[in-house]
Amino acid sequence: MNAFTPESRMNLRDIIRTIPDYPKPGIMFRDITTLLGDARGFRRAVDELVQPFAGMKIDKIAGIEARGFILGGAVAHQLSAGFVPLRKKGKLPHKTRVVEYALEYGTDSMEMHLDAVHPGERVMLVDDLIATGGTALAAVDLLRGAGAEIVAACFVVDLPELGGAAKLKAAGVPVSTLVDFAGH
Ligand code: AMP
Repeated sequence: MNAFTPESRMNLRDIIRTIPDYPKPGIMFRDITTLLGDARGFRRAVDELVQPFAGMKIDKIAGIEARGFILGGAVAHQLSAGFVPLRKKGKLPHKTRVVEYALEYGTDSMEMHLDAVHPGERVMLVDDLIATGGTALAAVDLLRGAGAEIVAACFVVDLPELGGAAKLKAAGVPVSTLVDFAGH
C-alpha cells in the first residue's frame, strides 16, 4: 500500500513555482528550486521517489545534469546506491561515451564516463521533470549502451501532454512521477 496520501502530492505541487514564458514565450517553466528550498518538501519528494523501490537491489542512480544531480544524489543516499552523473558535453574528465539527441531546434549531447556503469548493473534514472522525453531517452541510450539494466526512470514532475513518459514506457522503461501539470 502507498503510505503517501493524495494530500502530500497536492503539497508538492503547491511548492513548485511556475514562471510563465521562461526561457521563451509559451513555456510554463516548472521551477523546483522552491521545492528544494523547503525542508519538508525536499524530504517528502525524495521519500516519495524512493518509496516504490525500497528494498529492491539498485546498484546505481544516474542523475541528469543539473537538477537530476540534486535529487539523484539524495535518492542514491537513501537507497545505498552509487551515483552516476550524466553531463553536458565536455565536463567529464575521463574517457566518455557520448550520445547526441534532438532538441526542438538543433541537437545536444550528453556524456557519461565509460567506466561509470558495468554490464548487468541495475540503474535507476532520476531527473526533475519529463517533458518530450528526448533528454531521458538519450540517457537510457547511454546507460543501455554500457550494458545497464534500467530498473526505472523517476521524475518529480510529468508534463503528460508532451508524451515523454509514454515514450519511455514504450521503450520498456518503467516510469514513476510524483505530480502532473497540464500543458507545456
Ligand atoms: P525533455 O527532454 O523535453 O523531456 O525535457 C526535459 C528536460 O528539460 C529536463 O531536464 C527539465 O529540467 C527541462 N525542462 C523541459 N521543460 C521544462 C519545463 N516546462 N519546466 C522546467 N524544466 C523543463
